[in-house]
Amino acid sequence: MSDKFDVIVIGAGPGGYVAAIRAAQLGLKTACVEKWVDDKGGAVLGGTCLNVGCIPSKALLESTHQFHNAQHADVHGIQVSGDVTMDVKAMVARKDKIVGNLTMGVAGLFKANGVTLLQGAGKLHGGKKVEVTAADGTSNTYDAENVILASGSIPVEIPPAPLTEGLILDNEGALNINETPKRLGVIGAGVIGLEMGSVWARLGTEVTVLEAMDDFLPAADKDVAKEAAKIFKKQKLDIKVGARCTGTEIIDGKEVKVKYTDAKGDQEIVVDKLIVAVGRKPQTQGLLADDSGVSLDERGFIFVNEQCQTGVPGVYAIGDSVRGPMLAHKASEEGIMVADIVAGHHAQINYDVIPSIIYTHPELAWVGKTEQELKAEGVKIKVGKFPFAANGRAMAANDTDGFVKLIACEETDRVLGVHIVGGIASELIGQAAIAMEFCSSAEDLQMTVFAHPTVSEAIHEAALAADGHAIHMANRKKR
Ligand code: FAD
Ligand code: AMP
Repeated sequence: MSDKFDVIVIGAGPGGYVAAIRAAQLGLKTACVEKWVDDKGGAVLGGTCLNVGCIPSKALLESTHQFHNAQHADVHGIQVSGDVTMDVKAMVARKDKIVGNLTMGVAGLFKANGVTLLQGAGKLHGGKKVEVTAADGTSNTYDAENVILASGSIPVEIPPAPLTEGLILDNEGALNINETPKRLGVIGAGVIGLEMGSVWARLGTEVTVLEAMDDFLPAADKDVAKEAAKIFKKQKLDIKVGARCTGTEIIDGKEVKVKYTDAKGDQEIVVDKLIVAVGRKPQTQGLLADDSGVSLDERGFIFVNEQCQTGVPGVYAIGDSVRGPMLAHKASEEGIMVADIVAGHHAQINYDVIPSIIYTHPELAWVGKTEQELKAEGVKIKVGKFPFAANGRAMAANDTDGFVKLIACEETDRVLGVHIVGGIASELIGQAAIAMEFCSSAEDLQMTVFAHPTVSEAIHEAALAADGHAIHMANRKKR
């Protein structure tokens, strides 16, 4: 094998593996370097997303949602004889199987597209040379015309709660809890904290979430955050805002005392497991040799421009290791954009239209700007809101919590943001993203024919409501 590639990608997460496949599809001789190995020394492909992130968390959320529905099947007239029980080990094994299938699928896609897998830790040297050091310490160096850094992110650890086998866990440990804890503590009411808290609350665990900030979900539209807080309270997720974890103590090797401060002073709770979900940071340790020429920004992210170019021509960086939201779809789209640019095509990403989703139940999803952001910018807006309680299909599904909130510009009618709390908000938000990508006006959505009965009709009605014309809600605009 010649040691020179058109493209070497470092990292096989959803940023890196997608970039490698696209580059190979475009006829470029491509290699992908991955350092993660399993117990048998095999490469683990798919990164955080497939192995310890998006996919396994959604598998557990789906299983526990089905469990909740089975427990409440009587609303449909279904009688279940005896108690509905959950075999947690079987649930975790199912999750592992899904992860295994998907990661094997990536290996298959590499093969099918002719991507060379280089197993080991990649390090970028000057002159676009990539040194790959295998687990046994042997190393090889390869030349590349182009290098794409896609090294992803790792969980942030905090001194007051050092990870402790089986008791104080990060997201990886949290996905492998294999019996229902009686009491669970979660530090951080962000996406991961809320999703993991929901999984166990549905199985009957007493869940307490400590959030240092006074505001709940500050990145979300305030209406979404308020509605979500109300619903989570009903679900017995005890979310304490303004509560900063200050220390932990292991009691008799089987419980965790969690100390925190809030407005009332020093407090503590005792839990059986504690999940630390305080955010993630870019993974760049050992990635860049001193002569690589690539610089990091003040927060430790690899510094790139809008096209994901670093300061070194032919060296790009994508995904969680660069600025922007830490989301798998953002990483993948950056991978595609960079592969296209390397192949000589024009490519760009519309960073204004990247959907964000929290997969609790109901789900929280949004795209574009919040009402608060737009008002702070002085944009004149009109807002249409439609509750799922007035949507026939949501009623039929017994899933009526939440609403669609659509914000459009008062002057141009252009849709500027859509914010959803709802059972299938993650699926609905794609419709809003398409509309916004096509620069849709509220009127465009009003004039679109939505099938009946569908939950999507709530988007139609929210667009109508922006002009005071929703049909299934009293909302006539005063003129
Ligand atoms: P990663 O997925 O982190 O992959 C980076 C890869 O690079 C890893 O395999 C790593 O081993 C490898 N690597 C690093 N350094 C080197 C090196 N020097 N040499 C060789 N290989 C190297 N996002 C969503 O969009 N939706 C969700 O529902 C969602 N849920 C999540 C749930 C959890 C619990 C977590 C933790 C994250 C979740 N995310 C979600 C975030 C998502 O997983 C990340 O945004 C995404 O994985 C980033 O992709 P990436 O390719 O940039 O990095
Ligand atoms: P995210 O980055 O979305 O996963 O959210 C992580 C959350 O953890 C943020 O809202 C932080 O405010 C919160 N957080 C960070 N440190 C602490 C701490 N010591 N105690 C409680 N919450 C914290």
